[in-house]
Amino acid sequence: NEAGEISVKDIDHFAKTSFPLCMRHLFEKVREDHHLKHGGRMQLGLFLKGVGLKLDDALAFWKAEFAPKVSAERFDKEYAYNIRHNYGREGKRTDYTPYSCQKIISSTPGVGDHHGCPYRHFSEENLKAALVRMGVSSRAVEDVMDKVRNRHYQLACTLTFEAVHGSSCDAGINHPNQYFIDSQKILQS
Ligand code: SF4
Repeated sequence: NEAGEISVKDIDHFAKTSFPLCMRHLFEKVREDHHLKHGGRMQLGLFLKGVGLKLDDALAFWKAEFAPKVSAERFDKEYAYNIRHNYGREGKRTDYTPYSCQKIISSTPGVGDHHGCPYRHFSEENLKAALVRMGVSSRAVEDVMDKVRNRHYQLACTLTFEAVHGSSCDAGINHPNQYFIDSQKILQS
């Protein structure tokens, strides 16, 4: 899937195989809480747009995820506009681009927010647990934590990518959508 299209039913599968940790985390949280605050909706929403989720599918995805907590009428009133806006269908009609690692790393998530970069914003304990859940070996977890302690967050993400895919990523990770594309290249080859 390079600059391809994905549908709502594919998201689960791709989240497990090809999402970087920042997006896996947001996806797991929206599943768990049936809600995400604005920063998380922007970060995950624009990422999903970048991997090829079309506007109608994006509306269907968020509506279904929020459904246990947010009625269809409230969704249409409070959330749909922003999603259409991200796709350039409202307001100034800017076609917004997904956030880069640099932008995500320098964001400042507050209490109850789930956006940001886990390598930068998680506690050591939570980050280790998340890496283990991704299937990173304990040896590789230590290498990742070493990069984190030296504040090399994108290198930490690159090492995670390499550990999960058993394949090198020479360019290094600098964008969540690049992570996705490089992952798909390896998995489809
Ligand atoms: Fe996401 Fe980039 Fe952080 Fe990796 S380094 S988790 S892709 S923001």
